[in-house]
This record gives sequence, structure tokens and C-alpha cells, in this order.
Amino acid sequence: GAGAVGLAIAERLARTRSVLLVERHEGYGRETSSHNSGVVHAAIYYETGSLKHRLCWEGNPLIYEWAEAHNVPVRRCGKLIVALAEDERAGLDEVWGQATANGVRGIERLTGEQARALEPHVPTVEAIWSPSTGVVDPASLVRSYEGEARAHGALVVYRHAVTSVERIAGGFRLDLRDADGQSSSVTCAALVNSAGHGAPDLAAALGYPLDGGMHEGVEVPVLRQRANGGRYYDIVDPDVARMVSRPVYPLPEHQAGGLGLHLTVDTDGGAHLGPSTEWLPDGAPLDYRQVDEPEWHARFLEAGRRFLPGLRGDQIAPGQVGYRPKIQRPDQGLVDFLIWHDRGYVHLGGIESPGLTASLPIARVVDEALG
Ligand SMILES: Cc1cc2nc3c(=O)[nH]c(=O)nc-3n(C[C@H](O)[C@H](O)[C@H](O)COP(=O)(O)OP(=O)(O)OC[C@H]3O[C@@H](n4cnc5c(N)ncnc54)[C@H](O)[C@@H]3O)c2cc1C
Repeated sequence: GAGAVGLAIAERLARTRSVLLVERHEGYGRETSSHNSGVVHAAIYYETGSLKHRLCWEGNPLIYEWAEAHNVPVRRCGKLIVALAEDERAGLDEVWGQATANGVRGIERLTGEQARALEPHVPTVEAIWSPSTGVVDPASLVRSYEGEARAHGALVVYRHAVTSVERIAGGFRLDLRDADGQSSSVTCAALVNSAGHGAPDLAAALGYPLDGGMHEGVEVPVLRQRANGGRYYDIVDPDVARMVSRPVYPLPEHQAGGLGLHLTVDTDGGAHLGPSTEWLPDGAPLDYRQVDEPEWHARFLEAGRRFLPGLRGDQIAPGQVGYRPKIQRPDQGLVDFLIWHDRGYVHLGGIESPGLTASLPIARVVDEALG
């Protein structure tokens, strides 16, 4: 798939291998990779030693380097994690403990006064300052990966869906169907399943059980994913958007499946509230349109007013909606990325946030797994 992760992998593998990347859409980054916060994360929240921690930590400086070398808009603006009420200070301690255990670069505790010097309109009581966090333009990042993958010789094929996969002697056979309904097939020595929300279907086609178990004498981890929607509301009044200049996060809500409804400022200075955390029923279609529902409008306004107390209802409007591909079940806490390798097959599962930040190190791990 031609998401950020699939293309980063193609770019990496094409340096030494012959690579074919197959994507069902008309172009790159049409799903999760273009519907996200675009934050270059600093590895604050994840369990120490997990893939999310290590690959995000490694990816953070690499994204800045890559972006600067490839004219991808990026801002090293830092981010604030804020306590907005006295009773939130303890939650900040918890985040601080994890962040220091994770060796996050340059983090500091700020008093309310120090935090308000950075973001004067946000009524912060106390904060954590993460100077290595920033924002990148996801579409430009993905485009640059695609350009470099092609420059290394990768063949990128759009408008072709992989409909079936089979293990054959010496590799795999993929059945493809193009946008005109024509069928074809290709064979390959190794297969990287970086299909985001489509990954479990392809694994199932190979015969792997999705809920863990044995297959051909190999122990298979849980591959089943659930989609968790994250909708945004944009701050559409430019004067209000200009009142913040960097991402401002509340305390995280790991159990709900996200980092808390935050305020993000993109590389163009646009300000966005989100993302929500909404579990979708199994098999529900991913609808990228968002309509203005009064209930959500009210919820976002309430959340937005915690950051910007004077915010009015007519200053926000529905923005994008993205879907987290989660291995985590609704009743679980944070679950790690899955990068699983079985005899020439590499499965990427649960590549939710911080997948954009970790995309280059994920590509390195896949390259090493293939030997
Ligand atoms: C709301 C939200 C906010 C986020 N915020 C951040 C953030 O601030 N910072 C960060 O680092 N990360 C963030 N992320 C995570 C990041 O966006 C993802 O980890 C990353 O984009 C995943 O890229 P991918 O290539 O794995 O998946 P995708 O972008 O989904 O790409 C997979 C591709 O595979 C294709 N595909 C699937 N099945 C088939 C098939 N059968 N045949 C052909 N093609 C197929 C799809 O069409 C798709 O293009 C966020 C995610 C969400 C949902």
C-alpha cells in the first residue's frame, strides 16, 4: 500500500532490491497517511522499550532531517502537554515519569506562568514542554517517499487492488484487480504487508488465523484490527487560529484509544481540534466525509474552550476524519506496533500513531527482517 509506511519501506528496500508497490487508490496517501495530526512525536507516552517508543524516538530526528533534505514543510515548534485544572497535576506527573523513562529529548516541567509565556491564550496551570515535537505536512512527506522510492527503481502501481495472496514455492503469488476490473497476477520472493486497514484481509488470504494460533507449525500473533475513528474540527476563524502557535495536548486517554482531544497547528498555521476516539463496529466502512453533527459540535466546542476559553461555536467547523488501525481492543490499554516476520512475509499491524514519525525506522526494521 502507498501509505507513509509502505512508501518508506519501498524507498528503503529499493536501494538493494527489486520492489513492486501495489496500491488500490489513484494515488499515494489516500487513507490514514493523509488523515492524521501530522505531529512529529517525541516518544513521550509509550511503554519503555516498546516498538512505539524505540521507533518513534529514532524517527523523530530522522523526519526533520528527511523533511529538510526533501523540501517537505516541517516546523520544530515543540509541544505543550498541559494541566488545565489543579486536579490534573497528578496526571502530568504520570506523563512526566513515562517521558523521562523514555529518554525524550529536552523535556522540561513548566510552571503555568512559563507555559503561558509560550501560549498566552491557553489557561495552563502546569505543563510539560517537549521541544523535539513538531509538525510535518503528511501529504508532502508521503510524496517525497514516493519520489525517492521511484528514484531508487521501485515500480509503484496505482489503481490495483490485491485481491488474493498465496504462498508458492520460492515466494508468493498476488492476484490483482485494476480499476477497470481487469485481473492479473504477479509473483515475488518476499511480501511486505503494509496495507494499513487492509492488512488483516491479506493475512487471512494467506491462511493466517487473525486471533492468534498456529499455522503451518508457526505461532501467529493476533493480527485482527479494529478501526477507531478520529474526527477533527477546524478553527475556521483565522484570528483565533493565530492565537496558538504549536500543538497543545491535554492529558492522554490511552484507555479510550488516543492521546486526548488536542489542539494542533499545522505547517501552514491552520489550527485543528481533535482527534476524537470512536470505535467502529467490526466491518463498518471507513467514511472519510464528516458532517456537522450538533452533538459533536458541542463536544468539540467544550473541549476547545478548555484551551481557548473565548472560542465560539461559529469559529469551528468539521474537519477531516481519520481511522486508527488498532490491534488494541476497546477494553485494553495501549498495544504496541506489530512487525511480524514469517518466511519471507512481513506483516505490519496496528500501525497507528506514531506511525508517521516512526515510518523511516519501521522501514529499517523491515529491511533487516528480510535479511
Ligand atoms: C486520527 C489519526 C491521527 C494520527 N496522528 C499522527 C501523528 O500526529 N503523528 C504520527 O506520527 N502518526 C499519526 N497517526 C498515525 C499515522 O497516520 C499512521 O501510522 C500512518 O499514516 C500509517 O501509514 P500506513 O502506510 O501504514 O497506512 P495507510 O496510510 O493506511 O496506507 C495503507 C495503504 O494500503 C492500501 N491498501 C490496503 N489494502 C490494499 C489492497 N488489498 N490492495 C492494494 N492496496 C491496499 C490502502 O489503500 C492504503 O493506501 C495518526 C493516525 C490517525 C488515524
